[in-house]
Amino acid sequence: MSEFDLIRRYFTRAAPGAVLGVGDDAALLRIGNGMELAVSTDMLVCGTHFLPDADPFLLGHKTLAVNLSDMAAMGAQPRWALLSLAMPEADEAWLRKFSDGFFALAEQHGVELIGGDTTRGPLNLCVTIMGEVPQGAALRRDGAQAGDEVWVSGMLGDAALALAHLQGQVALAADEFAACAAALHRPTPRVALGLALRGVAHSAIDISDGLLADLGHILECSKLGAEIRFDALPVSSALRPHLARPIGRHCALAGGDDYELCFTAPVERRDAVEDISRRMSLPLTCIGSIVAESGCAVRVADGSVINMGESGYDHFR
Ligand code: ADP
Ligand code: MG
Repeated sequence: MSEFDLIRRYFTRAAPGAVLGVGDDAALLRIGNGMELAVSTDMLVCGTHFLPDADPFLLGHKTLAVNLSDMAAMGAQPRWALLSLAMPEADEAWLRKFSDGFFALAEQHGVELIGGDTTRGPLNLCVTIMGEVPQGAALRRDGAQAGDEVWVSGMLGDAALALAHLQGQVALAADEFAACAAALHRPTPRVALGLALRGVAHSAIDISDGLLADLGHILECSKLGAEIRFDALPVSSALRPHLARPIGRHCALAGGDDYELCFTAPVERRDAVEDISRRMSLPLTCIGSIVAESGCAVRVADGSVINMGESGYDHFR
């Protein structure tokens, strides 16, 4: 059973008291004054998401970053967080660095830590985040329309490439590895981009499980398909030489942990998107378009379609 079948079968119920329940990057709740509260939770588990010897400062950063990324994907302004920790022991040196990493990023985004839970157990880090968005303005997975262009922010696949290097599947030069390792350990949540895309994008998601898997969620929720141009994918100079090999294609199309945004916008808003890109000095790349026919075709220059065996990270497949 896949992770998403599991969620659908056992944990998806009607939530008539919510504007939006299970199935998007955050739930939406009406809170008055014309605003909605966006709420989401994300857990990092030792051995699954990071190794026991991971740098605690970077882990503090990433624990919050992955949650901020879900606020970005909703176009929500992050405001408050809860932090739940299970730890085998209270290691003060570790806690100092972890909390420094966490609060450095929280302060950058004006996020207040307002509670949580602490217990002894296998190392497990869980944040619940809350943000605000004007009523009806959230960027949802179900808003894509046929004819929309598909865009991604930043570069794809560097985090997965760093992991491939660590696993001996590719050999990167030292400076290339350093750049990719930064993408893996210190992702930049695209909060300002999410806010700027309100009123511009029709739909959005953050890329945590790989482009195809996450774009697939937009397509499924919007009941549409997409045509993606492989040669348009934004990749770093470290990844580009590997694109001819399956491991390189896998990193670009299905690599996890990018925390970039994938969004769709009508062709008429292309200038607005390009303007946001210039203002933020953040590459935004059009990689294809939304089509009425379901499925996602990734085409290379000669018109042939790439068949990806595996389309992203799934915890239970
Ligand atoms: P993301 O990658 O954006 O954090 P996930 O892929 O983890 O989202 O989850 C997909 C959707 O399923 C989200 O709306 C999430 O809130 C919901 N979800 C995940 N696990 C559970 C659960 N155990 N119970 C209820 N909802 C869940
Ligand atoms: Mg998400």
